Amino acid sequence: MRIFDPHIHMTSRTTDDYTAMYEAGVRALVEPSFWLGQPRTSPGSFYDYFDSLLGWEPFRAAQHGIAHHCTIALNPKEAGDARCVPVLDELPRYLVKDGVVAVGEIGYDSMTPAEDTALAAQLQLAADHGLPALVHTPHRDKAAGLRRTLDVLRESVLPPERVLLDHLNEATVDEAAASGCWLGFSIYPDTKMDEQRMVRLLRLHGTQRVLVNSAADWGRSDPLKTRAVGDAMLDAGFTDDEVDQVLWRNPVAFYGQSGRLEPDLSEASAAPPTYEGNSILRGGE
Ligand SMILES: [Zn+2]
Repeated sequence: MRIFDPHIHMTSRTTDDYTAMYEAGVRALVEPSFWLGQPRTSPGSFYDYFDSLLGWEPFRAAQHGIAHHCTIALNPKEAGDARCVPVLDELPRYLVKDGVVAVGEIGYDSMTPAEDTALAAQLQLAADHGLPALVHTPHRDKAAGLRRTLDVLRESVLPPERVLLDHLNEATVDEAAASGCWLGFSIYPDTKMDEQRMVRLLRLHGTQRVLVNSAADWGRSDPLKTRAVGDAMLDAGFTDDEVDQVLWRNPVAFYGQSGRLEPDLSEASAAPPTYEGNSILRGGE
């Protein structure tokens, strides 16, 4: 089973996770930029983080045979913090870089006017740079959050086929599907979606335009949930081809719209021995 995790925060995961992911079939991933739990106090802290998503973390992933891509944005949680808003002006400098396959995560957290402004501005940046957008739907008040997100999307110039609506569930999938956007589902250990609910949703909605991710970060989460969905699909009678569509071909098709996915994703990428003179091989070659 080959797996492309379209949303996982590897910065907060260990080398053991990389090893286990590779063994489970993960060969490629997208790491969206997001908040770090601890609020940032200045734009400079974003730029160092963006640079690490473009430099250090792909280097680390390559040690484990996994192709790493990222999405760059001012995240919803910090879009309302006046100390962070200047980041919007610097984003174009990052959106031209090779490893960036979308603008994201953008979207709503508390649905404030400042978040409106940041969302609309970043959808425009995606259009200007020929990139798709990864749009997070809020975890609280999901239905209202999705409706407001879709309103802003309709007013933007970005077409729905360039938008991935993420963190969907049974309550939001119908409206999201009707919008023409791609549909993302985050599978968590004990909240929100789990693999059995995901299989039921796939039965109802089919496998077109559906992406499944672990959204693993520093919270309670599991980077092998993509594989768990693949196994649950096979147990439920889905074919290998349908599993491959959801776990590989759909994310490749969506992020491929950037024109920046690594050319041969299922081949382990050759890792350079050091990054900025630093090796993580700890005495290895
Ligand atoms: Zn995330």
